[in-house]
Amino acid sequence: MNTDEDAVRDWLRAARQVTVLTGAGISTESGIPDFRGPQGVWTKDPAAAALFTLENYLLDPEIRRRSWRGRRDHPAWQAEPNAGHLALVELEKAGRLRAVVTQNIDGLHLRAGHDPRQVLEIHGTLYDVECLQCGRTTTMRENLERVEAGEDDPHCLVCGGLQKAATISFGQALKPEVLEACLAAARDCDLLLAVGSTLTVQPAAGLVDVAVRAGARLVVVNRDPTPYDGMASALLREPIGEVLPRLVAPLAA
Ligand SMILES: [Zn+2]
Repeated sequence: MNTDEDAVRDWLRAARQVTVLTGAGISTESGIPDFRGPQGVWTKDPAAAALFTLENYLLDPEIRRRSWRGRRDHPAWQAEPNAGHLALVELEKAGRLRAVVTQNIDGLHLRAGHDPRQVLEIHGTLYDVECLQCGRTTTMRENLERVEAGEDDPHCLVCGGLQKAATISFGQALKPEVLEACLAAARDCDLLLAVGSTLTVQPAAGLVDVAVRAGARLVVVNRDPTPYDGMASALLREPIGEVLPRLVAPLAA
């Protein structure tokens, strides 16, 4: 254990409102690949990322068929929350958590047992499907059952419109009410714990600026360097599933 870690434990104990910002790095230990890290799916294959824009999704039935197969085969369905996710639930139980803002769509924070009001899924969730025409929301489960039954691009059963996972695609606007809630959580906190995020994707990266400008202390827990390391009061490079439980353990005592 290093001195940075001891300092972070002290800050957590003193903090009233901790906002946690999480990225793909917290879910890799649950077996969900990272898309933007050095070994990420999109880092190694930028052409694949370029295909998955909202515009291409609307225009190209083959992109939609591939997307539905990708949803069906997504590793999230086999994944379980890991020790890192569970440690953040302990932070909530200790009364220190303002919010978890996550870039992940895998639902693992919710499955770990948080109060759903404490989790802000800034890039949406894989667990719901939205009709792009009438806005109706249905479960991913019922749509994947239609895929399994042979529909390769299930349309809305009410209006016949195209449907998509309730996740934010490239070229798709964020939900304003979710963004507003994230900004409030960044402004309100006295400690921002950035976990497993490269802090290179907006608006998540901008939330760090908001929090620090509002006077919060920044702690970065990430294997690789981020553009915000210079602003951080502490940098922790250890595996997330090991370091987070050590950080929150004294709060439970
Ligand atoms: Zn519809």
